Amino acid sequence: MPFTPPDSMDLLTALSVPASQPRPTRVDVDLDAIEHNYNALQACSGVPVMAVLKANAYGHGIGVVAKHLAARGVSHFGVAYLEEALLIRALGITTPTLVFGGVVTEQIPDFLKHDIQLAASSVEKLEHINREASTLGVRAKVHLKIDTGMERIGTHYYSCGPLFDAAARCSDCDVVGIYSHLANADASDLAHAKLQVRRFEDCVSAATDRLGRQPTRHLANSAAILALDSAHYDLVRSGQALYGALPAAHLAGRVELKPAMQWQSKVVYFKVVKPGHPVSYGSTWVSDTNTRVVTVPVGYADGYPRSLSNRGEVVIRGKRYPVIGRVCMDQIMIDIGDGEAWNGDTVTLVGDDMPVSEVARNADTIAHDILSSISARVPRFYHRSGTPVSP
Ligand SMILES: *Cc1c(COP(=O)(O)O)cnc(C)c1O
Repeated sequence: MPFTPPDSMDLLTALSVPASQPRPTRVDVDLDAIEHNYNALQACSGVPVMAVLKANAYGHGIGVVAKHLAARGVSHFGVAYLEEALLIRALGITTPTLVFGGVVTEQIPDFLKHDIQLAASSVEKLEHINREASTLGVRAKVHLKIDTGMERIGTHYYSCGPLFDAAARCSDCDVVGIYSHLANADASDLAHAKLQVRRFEDCVSAATDRLGRQPTRHLANSAAILALDSAHYDLVRSGQALYGALPAAHLAGRVELKPAMQWQSKVVYFKVVKPGHPVSYGSTWVSDTNTRVVTVPVGYADGYPRSLSNRGEVVIRGKRYPVIGRVCMDQIMIDIGDGEAWNGDTVTLVGDDMPVSEVARNADTIAHDILSSISARVPRFYHRSGTPVSP
């Protein structure tokens, strides 16, 4: 039976009216690389890895990545919003899935009807969840969310007693986890991360005393998997490293990560630009010699950051060339100088020879931002064992 995607999927996948030949700007996802990274992170931490699939699986495509990982027996998924978890359920995937974000009380029944795990970040939220579970006659699966130093969501580590009391009282909730989130695990100085670990330890002991058993403890993100063994506990959560992005340059070599994404386009135009003829909006780049310039059909509406204006680099025929002038909505210009490039040549924006961490640095941001910003206008293609996989 053909799979009918839910409405919300149109926003998350390729253009919904495909051409007979797709536009040359495309993302190719290597599912084997994701699996390789998954196994490497599991070996490094020695505990199960929660695969973080929020933000369209960091731009890789939540539907295909979820199906692939579920089929390989991945035991935990993490997402940011309820809707992302619902999409996973709509694909028939029953893998335990935690929504990290603050629970929106009106959405609690949706969580419960679809067996989606909730972050219990305050006494009030926990009691609300419990009441809804009782009304629906189901059990709510909650993870107690402690704030150990991020000041985002969660009960403060210094006043979490009442949360544990409430958890012990809530008769329709199963406390399946206790977790917190690190603010600085990618820093070379781990003092703050270690402080968060100590605060977390104290909260775990208090929760264990109060509940009479220890829930699954989880604290580490990708950076902490590589950098901080004491944060591994019973489960680790990985997003960027799962997709092959190195959390920080100083963590190179800890595990072998393979970039899962190649974001490429093709040269669609070639010309020679004369001196005194500025390139692109605002005329921010001018040559003082004749130079060869190619145009590539990708722009900020595809998620190619506008902050790469006069700062980005791409790879054509194995050589790096600069993005010149402003990044437009749909096109960028590349100065190839004395280099060679022909219409139809592949242009790598992000991939094996243009690591996302470097693109992120040029754009003054982080890999998460680059990957998750690649828009729905860019079609995704999937590969496994070197052969295409249909979405
Ligand atoms: C996004 C997120 C992660 C994953 O972070 P990475 O740095 O991509 O590994 C882990 N935990 C929580 C709570 C998150 O929001």
